[in-house]
Amino acid sequence: MKKYYKKLVFSFALFVVFSGLITSGFFYWKNLQEQQYENYEAAVEYDQMKVAEEQAAILAKVASSTLNVNDPKNISSKIYHVRFGILMYHHIDNKNKRLSVRPENLDAQIKYLIDNGYKFIKLSEAFRTFASSSTSTYPYDKTVVLTFDDGYRDFYLNAYPVLKKYNVPAGLYVINQDIGKRGNVTWEMIKQLHNDGLVEIGVHTVNHLPLGKLRPGSAYYQMARSRELLEAGLKDKIDTIIYPFGSFNENVKKQAKQIGFIGAASVYFGQRPSGQDLYSWRRVMINNNDIGPLLLRKLYIAFELVK
Ligand SMILES: [Zn+2]
Repeated sequence: MKKYYKKLVFSFALFVVFSGLITSGFFYWKNLQEQQYENYEAAVEYDQMKVAEEQAAILAKVASSTLNVNDPKNISSKIYHVRFGILMYHHIDNKNKRLSVRPENLDAQIKYLIDNGYKFIKLSEAFRTFASSSTSTYPYDKTVVLTFDDGYRDFYLNAYPVLKKYNVPAGLYVINQDIGKRGNVTWEMIKQLHNDGLVEIGVHTVNHLPLGKLRPGSAYYQMARSRELLEAGLKDKIDTIIYPFGSFNENVKKQAKQIGFIGAASVYFGQRPSGQDLYSWRRVMINNNDIGPLLLRKLYIAFELVK
């Protein structure tokens, strides 16, 4: 009896120790995952910020030779007239990160543009219009395109309701490897967005790599495979691509055309939108504080002033 009792106590103790080990092991593993995710997010953000800042500096330098961007007169209430511009967003959330715009600020930016007579179109529509217009005429006046990079889930949760509220179209550029992963849109979300018709889905490559730095074969795969996967999933044509990190070269542009994209957009490094070069259109990153006249001033510098 005593022996049996001892055995029971021993196995119970063993059970407690093991379950304790398993539980703490599980939490350790969970914590590690969390950490890895945070590190990954931080690394991606750092890369994108670095590129965006480099490009913004170049743009500001060119612009300052014509317009003194530090002159308070230029920051005040002067309303700049923009014929056509492409806005670039990443996260729409309440985090105080530099790639984040708060949902209420996105709302305010869209409202400001509407109140000032601006129209919103999809990127594919803009490519088609520029492609078919003669080179001597500019096809738009007071028209903008909204683009959201990377396919974050906060687009679906926070930006899409704002777009619906104002019935404003936009484009979401997804990275195939990230679809369905934490913080990213799922296939169901992508399908819903696509079927609703307000948001156009576009290619942002399979693995989010700088195309201009890849070997031609890899660059081609990143673009063509991404398009193929999206077209198969949505059972529809995918017309547009946005180069990750704004990275491209002459070969990438040629390949994008060859694959069948009707146009491609970059970041600040690209061309000002024109019908002559549809495969490296410039976009401008919009931040939290680009509100009211500041927003139009930014677009004015990027699309009217810098040739
Ligand atoms: Zn990206």
